This record gives sequence, C-alpha cells and structure tokens, in this order.
Amino acid sequence: MQLYKEQKLKITNSLTGKKERFKPINEGHIGMYVCGPTVYSNVHLGNCRTFMSFDMIFRYLRHLGYKVRFVRNITDAGHLVDDADEGEDKIAKKARLEKIEPMEVVQRYTVDFHKILEQFNFLPPSIEPTATGHIIEQLEIIKEILNKGYAYEVNGSVYFDVKKFSESFEYGKLSGRKLEDMITNTRELTAQSDKKSPQDFALWKKAEPQHIMRWPSPWGDGFPGWHLECTAMSTKYLGDTFDIHGGGMDLKFPHHECEIAQAEASNGLSPVNYWLHANMLTLNGKKMAKSTGNNILPGEIFSGENPILSKPFAPAVVRFFMMQAHYTSILDLSNDALLASEKGYHRLMDAFDNLGDLVTSGKSDFNVQEWQQKCYDAMNDDFNTPTLIAHLFEAVKHINLIKEGSESITLADKELLQQSMNSFIFDVLGLEGKSADYQDSDKLQAVVQLLIELRNEARSNKDFNTSDKIRDQLSAMGIQLKDGKEGTTFSVS
Ligand code: AMP
Ligand code: ZN
Repeated sequence: MQLYKEQKLKITNSLTGKKERFKPINEGHIGMYVCGPTVYSNVHLGNCRTFMSFDMIFRYLRHLGYKVRFVRNITDAGHLVDDADEGEDKIAKKARLEKIEPMEVVQRYTVDFHKILEQFNFLPPSIEPTATGHIIEQLEIIKEILNKGYAYEVNGSVYFDVKKFSESFEYGKLSGRKLEDMITNTRELTAQSDKKSPQDFALWKKAEPQHIMRWPSPWGDGFPGWHLECTAMSTKYLGDTFDIHGGGMDLKFPHHECEIAQAEASNGLSPVNYWLHANMLTLNGKKMAKSTGNNILPGEIFSGENPILSKPFAPAVVRFFMMQAHYTSILDLSNDALLASEKGYHRLMDAFDNLGDLVTSGKSDFNVQEWQQKCYDAMNDDFNTPTLIAHLFEAVKHINLIKEGSESITLADKELLQQSMNSFIFDVLGLEGKSADYQDSDKLQAVVQLLIELRNEARSNKDFNTSDKIRDQLSAMGIQLKDGKEGTTFSVS
C-alpha cells in the first residue's frame, strides 16, 4: 500500500489562508509547478532557500508514494528591470552591459544555477521549460484573452484589462487585495503609458527598435509579459487546473495574482488548487536580493570567502540550516547560526553512523514505531521540518544512551530506526548521503595544513625548491595558498 493512503497530509493554502487536507485531482498523481529563476545573474542563497523548500516538498510527496510531475521553469525573457511593465528586460540589460548575446547570459547563469543545485543535492524537476521556448503558447493565450474581451491592444502592445476582469472574477483573491484599494493606492499613469488603468498589466509588449529580444506577433514585433510565461508553461504540462503552484512569498503579488487572472480570463477555470509560498531568507534582518546587493552567493559560503563568515560551510550543513526553519517562516543567515547548524549536523550524522554498530538485546527502551509516526505527523503538518529535526534528535539521544549501555534496543527496532532515519535524513531532507562530505572537507583541511607546515619548514631551511613545489602543485590542483600577516591560508577553486 502507498504511504499516502495512511499518512494524511495537510498544507497551508495561500488561496484560503488555511491549513487544508491535501487531495490531488487524480489519486496518486500530483502536478506541481514552481516559478524558476530569472537567469541574468548568479542565484543567491535566498533564491536557493525557496527552491530548496520546494525540493523538500517534492521529495516528501515522492516519499509518500505519489507520482509527481514537477515543472520548474527558467525565465529567460520578459522579466523587466522594475518588475512592473516598464524598463529594460533584465537579461537584455545584462547582455548590453557585457556586450554579449542575451542567450549567452541565459546559458551562463542557467549552468551556474544547475551547478549550485547539484551541490545542494537537489532532485532535478520532471520538466524545466523556458519562456523563450513557449512563445507560441503565450501568443495563443493572449489571443484567447482578447477574444473573451479581457484585454486590449494599444500601439502594438496588449494589456490585461483588470477592471473588466473584475466584473466577472475576483482579482486580488490570492494576495487579499481589493481592486478599489489598489486603485486608490497606485500612482497615476505616466503620460507615455498606453495602459487604460495602472492596475492593467502587459501580456505583450511592443519591442522598440533597440530591444534585441523580440518575436513576431499579430500586433507587430514584441515580447511577452513576465506573468504570461508561467500560465503558458504550467497549463501546457499540467493541465488547465493542477494541484500545487509554488514560489517565494514576494511573487504572490502581482506575479501569481496575474497568473490566476490570465488563466481564468482565457478559459474560465481556476488554475491551481493549492498555492504554496515559501518565506524569505534575510541577511542582517533584510531580505536577500540581487538588486540591493544584500546577498551572499552559495559559492562564498562553500569557500568561506565572505567577511561575515569565519570559515567555509559544506552544502549539506547549509541545507540542514535551512531545514531547521519552517518553509513559511523568515530565516536570518548568520555565521553563528551556521556554526550551530554545523554542530547539530555532525551530531546527527555521527549518531546515524553509530546506529549500525549498536548491540541489540531482547527489549527496547525506545518506542521506535511511535517515534516514526511522530516524524510523519510533523511532515504531514504542512511539511514541518523543524519538528521533524527535533524528533531526529530525540532518536540521537536514544542512540547515544544505547551506545553507552544505559538503554537497550531490539534488532527489529534497530532496523526500523535505521530505515526511518535513512528515509527522513537523506530522502526527505535531502542531506548528502552519509557524512562523507564534511569528513572529506575536514580531511582536506588537515592535509593542506600539514603541507603548509612542511612548506614553512622548507622556507626556513632556505629549501625554496621544495617550498615552491608544494605551492605550485597545490595551485595546479586548484588549491591556492595565500601568505598573510596571520600566516598562510588557502582557498579551493
Ligand atoms: P528570481 O530569480 O528573482 O525570479 O527569483 C527566484 C525565486 O527566488 C523566486 O521564487 C523568489 O521568490 C525567490 N527569492 C528571491 N529572493 C529571496 C529571498 N531573499 N529568500 C527566499 N526566496 C527568495
Ligand atoms: Zn512564475
């Protein structure tokens, strides 16, 4: 029997604001869409947190036995610099500044995104479609919305008519905004704007002659509005109404609100049953963002090369740190928090490693079955990973007591504990297999430290052949030594 039949999952649905029992459209199958990155620069750790939250959700749904089609797109066109409908395309701007093709920008940062996700041990999505690969689908939706009378064309651009839409549908239901308040609170339109009303948003924008990312359309050369791509790609691969749509909280309005409006305007159907929003990673108490520079890159964490860090942290430690917070809570990054997570991660991994060697006996002091259900209850309660981790540490406590002989465990319980801990730690939380990565990194530190000492000895003996050989050969392996006032340090590239 599939686990999902006995483990009843509840998830917080942003559309209703309530924690609801999850019921997929087709039993045993789930369609899930998550807004992907705009690939105009390196992903920062904040972006990674949102994607990691949905990786954990994807993992748990699969663990429960669901067949999940997980679609996460790549935004490679249409996302403008001011997130509204004015300004340059983010990718085109980067291409102009670097004097390269927009698709070179896209390629570079898509590769970077994949590399980082692999380091964090993400599972690949089932489909990773791009906005530029779905221009035809986007044009078809615009035609449909125009046909239904919920959009208008002006000067080669097409805008969504929010007021007209609101006569038959509820615009603002996801973000809890009222159209009247939006009208009172928004700026007047600038003289050059083609929109009838400031709430309207672009479905298609006319490309000015200097705009390099352009496609032909019935309204002339242009490019799609940012919100449209997700409507096109989610409904193409998951159907007009699908189970789960996710993204960061900051996308709730306008991006997701507009996605709902576009889908409803084109076919009258509400596109998504459960909207899930992941909360922000902050740095110094402020949202991490590409645009403000208040961010930290995953590579800086892995190498330790950032002024806020006292040392490098392994990807699995960063993942553990993220999983210690609920995905709907704000999480602040600091060196102290990472150090604490590293300690906890090692304690958990050590206990898991020791579990195999525990001596069993005829009775158990630890009710493993009850404990296992508590772990499931935590995850069934809106993917509560911090509570799951607290239960894992309860198991760590018992493992340590059994190891020192103060408690005992039967063989059957030991096997169940091994199998459950393995599932929760590696399959669900996605922490790297075994503790190899941190042990490797500790071993590397020790070996390089030894070589630094040998090099120092050689230098003090004026044996520069040996000292240069150590430095150059390490450098050839990608390990750079840096001599400073405080002694020699190293970095790995
Ligand atoms: P973008 O590449 O800007 O389109 O963002 C990609 C994803 O990262 C979106 O789901 C955003 O909501 C999310 N995101 C952006 N900043 C943060 C942050 N500081 N913390 C968590 N998620 C974020
Ligand atoms: Zn999206």
